[in-house]
Amino acid sequence: MTRRRQIYEGKAKILYEGPEPGTLIQYFKDDATAFNAQKKGTIQGKGVINNRISEYVFTRLNHIGVPNHFIRRLNMREQLVRQVEIIPIEVVVRNVAAGSISKRLGIPEGEMLPHTLIEYCYKDDALGDPLIAEEHIACFGWASNEEMQDISAMAIRVNDFMAGMFAAINIRLVDFKLEFGRIWDGDYSRVILADEISPDGCRLWDMTSGEKLDKDRFRRDLGGEEEAYQEVARRLGLLQDDGSPSEVLDLSQHRKLRGK
Ligand code: C5P
Repeated sequence: MTRRRQIYEGKAKILYEGPEPGTLIQYFKDDATAFNAQKKGTIQGKGVINNRISEYVFTRLNHIGVPNHFIRRLNMREQLVRQVEIIPIEVVVRNVAAGSISKRLGIPEGEMLPHTLIEYCYKDDALGDPLIAEEHIACFGWASNEEMQDISAMAIRVNDFMAGMFAAINIRLVDFKLEFGRIWDGDYSRVILADEISPDGCRLWDMTSGEKLDKDRFRRDLGGEEEAYQEVARRLGLLQDDGSPSEVLDLSQHRKLRGK
């Protein structure tokens, strides 16, 4: 077997050169990190589940017209994606106060925000991904004002869609992080959604019990992270009821089973 060229290794994923120009293979690891990689560990089977959940969400986002990098899932841990020029900004969308906003502004965790908030952080591990204002983005040329309009509009659409999708399975979408990238066509570029959407980058609380079904279980040493990730996948209909991560179904198989 020919060895693929590794393009980049991040904390939870590896990017390899894809089979065609302009494509990459995104490999999902079980590695988990928190607090800017000061805490490291493994969540068994996380890569398989995140690959599956991200495929599901990106496919549905594509159907509602949110352009994104996902092309198709290749196997349990890999998906084919479009190569983008990553915009060095983390876009955080918040519906309920939790995590860093609660710490920073003293807002109790769980308090509904008066309206959805979008925050931006500069993607730089050495600086600890600092919170920035939109002004910084324009000032330092990380993205144009036009691109930021597209990004914020897409972030709101993703939030509206995902809040509904999770509410339907009794999960509150507290907050989440998105990343965007540019694709070029000659001199013309446009922005599409990239990276992943999974319990690694979302806060997901059971609507009845308030139980955390996301990476906060790892960050806060709550235990049960494997089960929490599986529970999200199971409620989305991506795992058999008796399923272990190895029994993740194909979407086509899943539809057949549900008679669609
Ligand atoms: O830590 P904070 O409260 O700012 O995180 C907000 C949301 O963004 C959380 O859902 C968290 O999982 C996500 N996030 C992320 N990667 C980061 C920072 C935040 O996925 N580097």
